[in-house]
Amino acid sequence: MNIIIPALVLAGLGFILGFLIFIVEKYFNVEENPNIEIVFDMLPKYNCGACGFPGCKEMAIGLLAGDNNTTQCKPLKKEDADLIQQKLDAIFSSKEQS
Ligand code: SF4
Repeated sequence: MNIIIPALVLAGLGFILGFLIFIVEKYFNVEENPNIEIVFDMLPKYNCGACGFPGCKEMAIGLLAGDNNTTQCKPLKKEDADLIQQKLDAIFSSKEQS
C-alpha cells in the first residue's frame, strides 16, 4: 500500500512532463532546412572533427552556407566529394532561380 501513492505521483509527473514536452515541441519547433539532412547523409558520418567542425552535421550546415568545401573532410573519397559538390551546385542554382 505504501508504494501505490509514490508510484501514482511518479506516473502523474511523467504524464504532465510528457504533455509539456509535446506542447513545447509542437509550438516551438524550428523547421530545419531539409537540404542539411540530404548533405549530411552524403558525408561519412564519422564525426571525427578532422574538418574543423564538431561533427558532420555542422560540416553539412557549413557546406550549405558556402563557408567551407568538401576538401576539408579528410575521410571523404573523391567520388563522394564530387557527388556532394554536384548536389550543392544544384541546390545553389535552384536558389538563384527562385
Ligand atoms: S571530417 Fe568528415 S567525417 Fe569527420 S567530422 Fe568532418 S565531415 Fe564528418
